[in-house]
Amino acid sequence: MNILSLINQDVKAENETKKVMVALRVMYITVFIAFAIDLLLTGPVLWSKCAIKIITFLITNIILLVSTYYSRTRTAYALFMLFLYFYIINFIPVFGWSAGLQNYFIIILMLCFFGSYGKSVYKFIASGFVLVIRIIIIMLFGKMDSLVAHSLLIDKLLQIVNISAVFLAIIYISYVFSKSEKESEEKLMKYNDQLKREANTDRLTGLYNRRRALEYLEEMIETQGDSPISVAMGDIDFFKRVNDTYGHDIGDEVLKSVASIMKRVCTENAFVARWGGEEFLIIFTDCNGDKAFATVEDLRREIQHNSIKVADNEIKITMTFGLSEYDFDKNAQAAIKEADERLYQGKANGRNQVVY
Ligand code: GH3
Ligand code: MG
Ligand code: MG
Repeated sequence: MNILSLINQDVKAENETKKVMVALRVMYITVFIAFAIDLLLTGPVLWSKCAIKIITFLITNIILLVSTYYSRTRTAYALFMLFLYFYIINFIPVFGWSAGLQNYFIIILMLCFFGSYGKSVYKFIASGFVLVIRIIIIMLFGKMDSLVAHSLLIDKLLQIVNISAVFLAIIYISYVFSKSEKESEEKLMKYNDQLKREANTDRLTGLYNRRRALEYLEEMIETQGDSPISVAMGDIDFFKRVNDTYGHDIGDEVLKSVASIMKRVCTENAFVARWGGEEFLIIFTDCNGDKAFATVEDLRREIQHNSIKVADNEIKITMTFGLSEYDFDKNAQAAIKEADERLYQGKANGRNQVVY
């Protein structure tokens, strides 16, 4: 396992808080490296003067880094905050004010907002607390010299190291959290699309469902202006017999086959939906009753003459349709009702026909 995958461990999990853990690990490593460079720059005279402090700090850093693999996010996050406070307060007097350790407060401030999922009010309170501590630090350590005097060049290098560490940390935190936001946004959008599709389609046949059909017809009535709209309601004849003879599962397969025949035949400006049970609704836009009649008649014949093959059975079915041209004085429901009434006329007249 390489170092990157070790740092990134668990990051791909759905749980967002894993990102906080990864960010914390990166922070510990960044602080560790910056601190080590600071030590190298300042030299052994300084090390000998505060050896215990340095060793304690390095050991604490490593222990806390390891603890991110075992502790809970909230605990790890609180520990990191304490660790940074501890670092800043203990080491400004060591490296001097001009080394810029106080800039690490910006990381603490960022983590107040990005690192936790608590209420906003707590985040503001925590940020206010950071500001207060930062001001206290100015009062206590402002312009403080380092423990061991060093050259102006070393001073500048210390500043560069620490400000670079802070910048890198901020860039990394921003990257991780903006990425996670984008990822969850994309996930949410996909999920929404899927929900929408599921809400609009009939599971068995894959056709649009009744809800979507009604919505679509209303949309068409509103947007089509003067162009004609026709509505056909179809019902499979004696479908109960199919179920009784072959079983419900085969009945389902027949419904699927009927749906695919309907989709194949009704191509031009036709919207095919399963209205419920073995009833189907077809909405023809920019299509008058006569033209729609021709298509529905083709469909009726196609269904009559093509036996449906399901698991070694050749099942012959017929369908009856009622067709109505939308009257601009009426509404969607009325158009469907008229088609439905004509369908029942067709049933009464002996089935396997289109009534218009
Ligand atoms: P008609 O010609 O008068 O329409 O006769 P019919 O037998 O088709 O009419 P009826 O309304 O008496 O029966 C419809 C049958 O459709 C009853 C029901 O079990 C069956 N059915 C409804 N939905 C489904 C379904 O999703 N799958 C299956 N397999 N059967 C269904
Ligand atoms: Mg029927
Ligand atoms: Mg029926």
